[in-house]
Amino acid sequence: MTRVHEHHVTNPATEERVATVPAAAPADVDAAVRRAAAAQRGWAAAAPADRARLLRRFADAVDGHLEELAALEVAEAGHPVTGARWEAGNVRDVLEYAAGGVERLSGRQIPVPGGVDLTLLEPLGTVAVIAPWNFPMPIAAWGSAPALAAGNAVLLKPAEATPLTALRLAALALDAGLPEGLFQVLPGAGDVTGRALVDHPGVAKVVFTGSTATGREVMARCAEQVKRVTLELGGKSPNIVFADADLERAAAAAPGSFLDNAGQDCCARSRILVQAEVYDRFLELLEPAVLGFACGDPADPATAMGPLISAAQRERVRGYVREDEPAAIRGTAPRGRGYWYPATVLEREASDRVAVEEVFGPVAVVLPFTDEADAVRLANATDYGLSGSVWTRDTARALRVARAVAAGNLSVNSHASVRYGTPFGGYKRSGLGRELGPDALAAFTETKNVFLSTD
Ligand code: NDP
Repeated sequence: MTRVHEHHVTNPATEERVATVPAAAPADVDAAVRRAAAAQRGWAAAAPADRARLLRRFADAVDGHLEELAALEVAEAGHPVTGARWEAGNVRDVLEYAAGGVERLSGRQIPVPGGVDLTLLEPLGTVAVIAPWNFPMPIAAWGSAPALAAGNAVLLKPAEATPLTALRLAALALDAGLPEGLFQVLPGAGDVTGRALVDHPGVAKVVFTGSTATGREVMARCAEQVKRVTLELGGKSPNIVFADADLERAAAAAPGSFLDNAGQDCCARSRILVQAEVYDRFLELLEPAVLGFACGDPADPATAMGPLISAAQRERVRGYVREDEPAAIRGTAPRGRGYWYPATVLEREASDRVAVEEVFGPVAVVLPFTDEADAVRLANATDYGLSGSVWTRDTARALRVARAVAAGNLSVNSHASVRYGTPFGGYKRSGLGRELGPDALAAFTETKNVFLSTD
């Protein structure tokens, strides 16, 4: 690899250097695309059962290294170790699930006059997966595993801040027996390595997860070549609490929904909408729950929230709310080294910048609503549409509201948005396409229609 640039990986909890990683230059990207194309031909031609077996072995290799992978995620991303273990397990599960799809990826036989009509689902070729720093390991797997399972090669570009788990996954794939060149990791800067991948004519599809601003640029560049693209972008998701909800449960669950990963989560329920008659009571219940959300050393299993990823990200969050500004609820965070920011709940106007834009920090805004129609209006008053939660004991209302909210992932009396077996993705400016779930592999294929005349 041509070393035009190196990037230092920093532990966000200590500000210590964890590693130095060389970056892939455009010439490296070009060479990687050629290696991928060669590997992909053999991979697509292999027996489906063999491809499935190798992916299961890859999943087993990940399973055998869960602690090591989790420790890397703690070191480079500052994630609490319990969450990092879940993330490593999620990579294993996503690989297993994708492996199960290899032999079930079938086309259709469609009734037509004069012959027989078949659809074939063919791999695209080489897929680029551009991952962000907020959940480096799972998001890398959500794109890569189904793409590989559908017969493609994958070039994965991790975020500059968090390349270590991706590099380890590529080594585990080789150990598991995946062909050389089939799954390559290309660390580097977004505007160099990422852009080279997006622009390369040998890359058939780009799977991008990150900010809406960068996603828009990636989509525009893909449009130059009519390149396939999946976008998983930002969010400003509502947590809607009706007066008839189990308020104790709703309040106990709310902190995790916007403080998990220090709020650096595209699904963060950062707008808490509460029906007016229980607004004060809900805030009373929310306060101890937020204050009890332990912020500290990510390596401690009792920790629920770690630091932000970088000094720049903390400045971004401070741009929305200063730590000395009045807040409805403010937690505590360690002082000194590390990019810490305390849990913060604000009472602001619905039109306030902090109530409208994705903060990507441990900050939520709480807003009252009058009735169901008002809740839906507020929930939809955003350009985003990734996820949302509805808390009520009225099942009919839960379904009505879930259907009325323009977002891809709704949860009722829960904040769970992500399961490897269910589709995930956004409405509006939160993205394009879906990942995970039963159709994940199909998103990495072209449908070819073949008509055989019987005349
Ligand atoms: P970006 O969207 O810029 O980065 C996401 C990924 O895209 C990274 O791998 C990045 O590389 C890469 N990238 C950056 N520019 C390009 C480009 N021109 N072409 C191809 N790839 C590119 O997010 P940031 O890290 O800059 O974070 C900024 C803000 O974005 C956050 O504060 C947050 O609000 C939002 N964000 C949202 C995410 C979500 O899941 N919704 C995830 C991450 C960020 P590299 O990092 O190496 O430059």
